[in-house]
Amino acid sequence: MLNIALFGPPGAGKGTQAKKIVEKYNLAHLSTGDMIRKEIAEGTELGKMAQDIINRGELLSDEFVVKLIESSMAACKGVDGFLFDGFPRTVAQAEILDRMLEAEGTPLRALICIHVPFEELKRRMLERAKIEGRADDNEEVIQKRFREYNDKTVHVANYYKNKGVHVDVEGNCPVEEVFGSITKAIEGVK
Ligand code: AMP
Repeated sequence: MLNIALFGPPGAGKGTQAKKIVEKYNLAHLSTGDMIRKEIAEGTELGKMAQDIINRGELLSDEFVVKLIESSMAACKGVDGFLFDGFPRTVAQAEILDRMLEAEGTPLRALICIHVPFEELKRRMLERAKIEGRADDNEEVIQKRFREYNDKTVHVANYYKNKGVHVDVEGNCPVEEVFGSITKAIEGVK
């Protein structure tokens, strides 16, 4: 199993790259953000609990997202691995993920970190707000999402650096170029 996590701040291009990666390597795309938005759109109990938190730009509880990830992983059949997108976002989530994957004997092979300068991230997110109309892409919420990233999420990169499975990728270039760097990184750990 080829288990990979895509990591980076909001607006780094994780979703765009994830679609290309899962197609090339036959992986299941596990995006916690997409799972939560689906729960909200379907009006489920989980969705109702998540809506205010996501619209404020805050992180949901580790317990909540781990439950989503667990049930999605269990439902995946016939894939060659998992691509985690937007997960793990805290060190606690990373520890839980590692325990789950190690129990299956298929640890995370790489945390691919996409790097993009802050001004470019902000520009991309405001652009996306116009196109997709996401409630969590307005200026105030974007600031909050960056604060959450800096307070809670950046530490995940160090956690995996210490485990020796962290790879840096330049993300401030055309989509195909970023994808080229990512596939090179994946080929290196396959
Ligand atoms: P994303 O689409 O990955 O940018 O996620 C959108 C929002 O969903 C985030 O701002 C959080 O509110 C929530 N979210 C997504 N993934 C996680 C996670 N792993 N842990 C906590 N909250 C999450």
